[in-house]
Formats: sequence, C-alpha cells, structure tokens
Amino acid sequence: MSKEVRKFEAETQKVLDLVIHSLYTNKDIFLRELVANAADAIDKVRFEALKDTSLAEDWGIRIEVDDKAKTLKISDNGIGMTRDEVVENLGTIAQSGTKAFLQAIEEQKAAGKDIPELIGQFGVGFYSAFMVADEITVETKKAGYDGKGVRWISKGDGEYSLEDIDKEEHGSVITLKLQKEAEKYLQKWTIKEIIKKYSDFIEYPVRMKDTVKEPKEGSEGKDEKDIEYVDVEKDEVLNSQKAIWLRNPSEIKDEEYQQFFKHISHSPEDALKTIHFSAEGKTEFKALLYIPSKNPFNMFMPDTKKKNLHLYVRRIFITDECPNLVPEYLRFIDGVVDSSDLPLNVSRETLQDNPTIEKIQKNIVRKVIGELKKIKDKKPEKYEEFFKEFGRFIKEGVYADYSNKEKLQELLLFETMNQEPGKLISLKEYIDTMPSEQKDIYYIIGESRNVLENSPHLEIFRSKGFDVLFMTDPIDEFVASGMFEYEKKQLKAVGKGDIDLGEEKKDDKEKDEDLKKEYNTLLEVIQKKLDENVKEVRFSKRLTDSACCLVGEAYDQSPYMQRIMKSMNQEMPKTKRVLELNSEHPIVKSMKKLYEVDSENKKIGEFAELLYDQALLTEGSPIDNPLDFSKRVADLMVLGLDKEVKEKGSDK
Ligand code: ADP
Repeated sequence: MSKEVRKFEAETQKVLDLVIHSLYTNKDIFLRELVANAADAIDKVRFEALKDTSLAEDWGIRIEVDDKAKTLKISDNGIGMTRDEVVENLGTIAQSGTKAFLQAIEEQKAAGKDIPELIGQFGVGFYSAFMVADEITVETKKAGYDGKGVRWISKGDGEYSLEDIDKEEHGSVITLKLQKEAEKYLQKWTIKEIIKKYSDFIEYPVRMKDTVKEPKEGSEGKDEKDIEYVDVEKDEVLNSQKAIWLRNPSEIKDEEYQQFFKHISHSPEDALKTIHFSAEGKTEFKALLYIPSKNPFNMFMPDTKKKNLHLYVRRIFITDECPNLVPEYLRFIDGVVDSSDLPLNVSRETLQDNPTIEKIQKNIVRKVIGELKKIKDKKPEKYEEFFKEFGRFIKEGVYADYSNKEKLQELLLFETMNQEPGKLISLKEYIDTMPSEQKDIYYIIGESRNVLENSPHLEIFRSKGFDVLFMTDPIDEFVASGMFEYEKKQLKAVGKGDIDLGEEKKDDKEKDEDLKKEYNTLLEVIQKKLDENVKEVRFSKRLTDSACCLVGEAYDQSPYMQRIMKSMNQEMPKTKRVLELNSEHPIVKSMKKLYEVDSENKKIGEFAELLYDQALLTEGSPIDNPLDFSKRVADLMVLGLDKEVKEKGSDK
C-alpha cells in the first residue's frame, strides 16, 4: 500500500493538544510510558511464543541517542502492530478513555494540580512523547505476520502519515525528534536516571550503548600509572529487572515497594499499604498487593473497569484482565500474583472458571480483609483515611460476598447522630456507646448529614439519647437492607415500620387506645383525602416536636433511593406510605376541634394536604403540586397578617 495521510479523530487531537500545550512539571514520564509500552508488547509476544517457538528470542528493549540528528529511539522486539492496529491504537483513543481523560484534565486544572501523572492512567501514554518531541516516527511489524511493516509519522498537529516499509524483525521502533527544549533527553545519564527511577522492575533488559574508558589492549601486567585508557562503546543494561514479588520481603526497602507500586498502578502517590506474601501448600503462589491511598475511580470515572491484578505464571506475564482473581468489590487492589500451579499455556478464556484461580482468590480475599482489620485496630486514623476513599467497595462486599459478610461488617464505618459531624465509628463502637436501654441498631438514609439532622423521624431517638447511624452514600441502602443484624442486634430504619422502643407501659397502651377512639373519624377523613398517596394515617411514637412524618414498610425503599432511581430515569412504582401524626401537636389538636364543630369544613382536607406536603419537604422529597402548596401557604400568610393587623389595631 502506498503512502497515505490521515487525520486524527477529533477527540484524539483534543487530548493530544492538551498533552502538548499544557504546562508540565515532569516530562520525564514520557520515557516510562514508552518503555512500559515496549515491555507490554514483549509480554504479548512472549505469550504467543509459548505456542509458536519460531518467535522465541532474546527479548529486550533498546534505547539509542543520536546527538547529531537530535533523536531518541526506543526499540523493542515485541508483538508489533499491523497497519490497521497502528491506525486503531495510535490514531484513535478509546472513546470512554478520551472523555474520562478530558474531564479529569479539566478537574485537575481547576484544582491547580499537575497533569502528566494522569496520562498513564488513561491509556494515552504514547501521546506523552509529544511533550518532548516535534515529530514521532513509529516503525513496526507484527510478530508472525509475513507481509510488510508500516511506518507512522506525525507531528501531533492533526494528521499522521502511513506507509509500508521493509522491516525484518517483528517489534516496534519509536523515534522521537526531540524539541529544542527537550535536548536534555540526549544525555545518557539523564536517561539512565529515568530508567532506574521508573522502569527498574521491567522484566526485560533495557539496553543502551555508552562509552566507557577501558585499559588499552596489551595493558595487562602494566603498572597502574602506565596504563593507557581508550573509549569503548559498550552495551549497558540500565535496569535491575528483578521481579520484586519473588524476592524475600525482609530484603526489600519500602521505597522499592513504592516505586514498583507506581510502576504498575501509574499512581502518582504512594500506596497506603503493601501486602507481600506467599501461599504454600495446596495452592502455591506469590502475591504482592497494594492498597492505594487514593481512589482513582470515584474521582473521574466511576464506572470504568480498570485493569486487574497482573497475573504471572512462573515469572511470565499472562494477563491483567484475569476474571475472578479478585472479587469485583476488591477491584481497587493493585499488584501482582505469580502462580506456580497454572500451566504456562493457559488461555485467557480458560481462566474464567479455573479452580486454581478460585483458590487464589479466596486466599487474597482473606489476606486483604485481615490486613484491613489490622490497620483498623492498630492505626484507626489511617484506616479512616482508607475508608473515606474505599469504604464504598467494602460496603459493596458486605452485600456481594456472603461468605465474608461478617468480617466485612467489622470494617464498616459510619457517621452517627451522637457523634461529631465527620467522625466515623464502627458498628462495634456504635453498640458499645449506645445507651443500655437501646435494643436495636437504628439508621436513617438521606443525601446529607444536614438533611438527616433535621428529620422528624429522629425526634424520639434524640429525646431518649439513642444513637442513629447516618447513611448518606447511595450504596448504604443496599448495605442496610442486606445486613439485617449485627452482633444479634437488628438493623432498623427509623423511618420504617412500627418502632418498638422497648418500654411501652400498660398506661401508654391504654392511652393509645383512647386516642384512637377519640380521633377515629378524623383520621379516616384525613386518610380519605390523601388516599392517593397515603395508605394509613395513625398516631406516631417517633415525633416529639413536628406535627407529622411519613413512614414506610420495613422493606420499602427509602425515599432517598427512590429519588436516585427516578433521577436515573428508572420507572418507580408508587409506594404508598403511612402518615404519622403527633397527637400532642397544636395543629392536630386544632384540626380535631374544628372537626368537632364543623365536620364538613373544607379546611380539614386542605390542611391534611398541607401536612402531607410538609412531611415530604422535611425529608427532602419533591411535592406533587408546588402551586397548590404555595397558594395554601399564601392564604395562611394573609390570615396571619390580618390577625397581626387586627391586634395592632385594637392596641391603639
Ligand atoms: P496504553 O499503553 O495505556 O494502552 P498508549 O497510548 O501508550 O496506551 O498506547 C496505545 C496502544 O498502542 C497500546 O495499547 C498498544 O496496543 C499500542 N502500542 C503502543 N506502543 C507499542 C509498542 N511499542 N508495540 C506494540 N504496540 C504498541
């Protein structure tokens, strides 16, 4: 095929422009990205080579500098790319990646933060080379492919060219024509430093020729002072290539662990916790796992499934998309698992229901939960930090991982009514500090502490000094409804069902009965008026100050969850709730008086609707008919004002 020129996709060019024209503090990472790509490419071909021995060779990456041409070259003998793959991989960026990246950049910029660290996380690593290069040439040939190689050239300015070339070896050669300002990347010591820093753990040797002084031939046996030295070009391996996870933990410095973490996770920050262990016995594997300190998901891309743990079989990289290596809810864990039980030629498909993988998973889960528990017990502050970032995943585990539910429950933290805002406590601490008369664990769900604090549902609990868990995370609804109980104490929503505060005396019961009789017909009238929305009107045990509140059945969704579902355009069947009234409240008492003197009075129905709307508003739900509501409030205001005027008038 002859030479052709193509345009970058619009979104791709946008990302490119951002990468090229934004201000960076750390351009060095372009080399890390290119070397990582080269290593990935070798990983892939090495996997193929297990089946096709004609490919097996001396895997490696080479860096070359050309001072005169001002070019830096990174070559690998990896998998290479076909023409179509070049277009696919270098001319476009996966849509989801691009969007997430652009959004992330915006947010980082708004927060005044550095951008390049994001690059690796979004699969746009290759483009980071445009930070230092005026022009990039990629020459590549796919392994196991008989045809021609392909050359891709671009200045990053909207278009790129493609042409066929003769290339013998499979693999890729990336040549950067360095910008004037980036010529420091021609210095060999700079390159060595960067490779040592970022790519030391890469499994393949990264080689570069360097001139070293060596004694001239025939110097043997001469006196030190008589030896003549000459410059010799020598291949140097720049990285140690040590598979850190196979080494003895006692010999590894924390700094090395952190470097490796950054290398595999592309994270700019240190990991919160390193877990390095080996399992022996029935399943043998080594694992080096990391709990990151920052959650890369919720920041920018809540739904994007990131790559998983890296699975190796006896030092050979197999995949970073192995299903079931960790359960979904532990997808935030980074690291490496190296198994000696799996056959080298496992295909990615056969990993799906692999019993060895299942065993490894069980082991990892046990270990991670155990380590989290340790942090929680020994370093509560650090744990709180963790929980603020990753608490959601633990919550997900509570309802998704039945076999570890109990242990995961121990890891939960919540805000509660009786604790300072922002302070998180465990369920155990909750139980330990709740008053002795409190029998159950109570919770309330809503969008924020502020809204919850003002909920009438809490009144009776507050007056008794009981504690209530504040649940403000959308996922809490699932956790709460999946948990049922903790330490034999039932979990109950303060806004659902009949509540039993455990001290109802005989007198109270009688009083209840009396009230019911006394108000019976009024309650019926109100109920009829609100029939469309309310299935029962009754007196409340929850209220001390407010006139009314709405209450659901034990298994109903919370109104908060219903609002979330609605906002996601989910069809929601209408659930009728119970309207609870406070028999001690003046409004209720006055309604009764009015009813007794004029049972047909229109105001009774109108006020019933006002009460209902009020109950909705206090829990943060929208009301059905805001116009009616404001008209009624306006009427009441006029009444109030008239009364005021009358009083002032009679003062005179
Ligand atoms: P990422 O590596 O995160 O996927 P990049 O922008 O760095 O994103 O690279 C895009 C794609 O281009 C890679 O996924 C890979 O398929 C391909 N690629 C990049 N460099 C090489 C290389 N040296 N050899 C083979 N393929 C490569």
